[in-house]
Amino acid sequence: MINDELLKEEAQKLGVHLNYYAIDRFDVYAERLVRWNEHVNLTAITEPDDIVIKHFIDSLYPLRFIHMEKGKKLIDVGTGGGFPGLPLLIANPELEVNFVDSIGKKLGFIKDVLRNTGLIGQATHIRAEEIGRDAEHRESYDFATARAVAPLNVLCEYCLPLVKVGGFFVSLKGSTGNEELHQARTAIKTLGGALEQFEEYTLPNGDKRTLIIIKKISQTPTKYPRKSKKIDTRPL
Ligand code: SAM
Repeated sequence: MINDELLKEEAQKLGVHLNYYAIDRFDVYAERLVRWNEHVNLTAITEPDDIVIKHFIDSLYPLRFIHMEKGKKLIDVGTGGGFPGLPLLIANPELEVNFVDSIGKKLGFIKDVLRNTGLIGQATHIRAEEIGRDAEHRESYDFATARAVAPLNVLCEYCLPLVKVGGFFVSLKGSTGNEELHQARTAIKTLGGALEQFEEYTLPNGDKRTLIIIKKISQTPTKYPRKSKKIDTRPL
């Protein structure tokens, strides 16, 4: 259903080569997304070229700057319809990806896409701040990703506890990234992070985006993440 050439060409501009299997999987993904969206609220974007640019290419953008080698562990926090985690997995099928969302139905969709594309991944129905307190997951991921889930200072408390020292939290933001980064300086420092890279870019359709990459440089103090209510009412 999607324009394969558009996807391939735009991915190539990011230095991402998509082979036949990847293109086929993106096609299945787009088709399932539109179908599931009729009964589960996954996205407002359903035009095929918009899906390619605003979802797939946007999600692949971090690969311009970060190499995600095979076997690395990634957690996609607030994954919703699978962005950016699923495109990143399709581009690198040997990544170990855990898709996390607080809404179970959305994970039903993720499992459906994994099954229909033959990809392997984990889908976990839990709140980010809860999985961040679970010893099995805390400080155990090479990458945490999140697109459009919460303001950056709040997101840092969701994501940085999950990243191991030396790993990265990759935040995909709209045009407000700069202000959000400014407001998140205390959160980044308190939670053991340091700004690695800040990139403002424009998608091929003209939409403005920001990519913020935060490196985990020291362990997160055990008191974080706090309970959901505290994170919301007294963000760092
Ligand atoms: N990342 C997807 C994207 O870019 O299209 C979905 C973005 S949607 C605006 C935000 C998602 O984050 C929703 O699916 C919501 O259920 C989830 N979410 C919000 N707060 C969360 C939390 N504390 N823990 C886990 N998931 C959360």
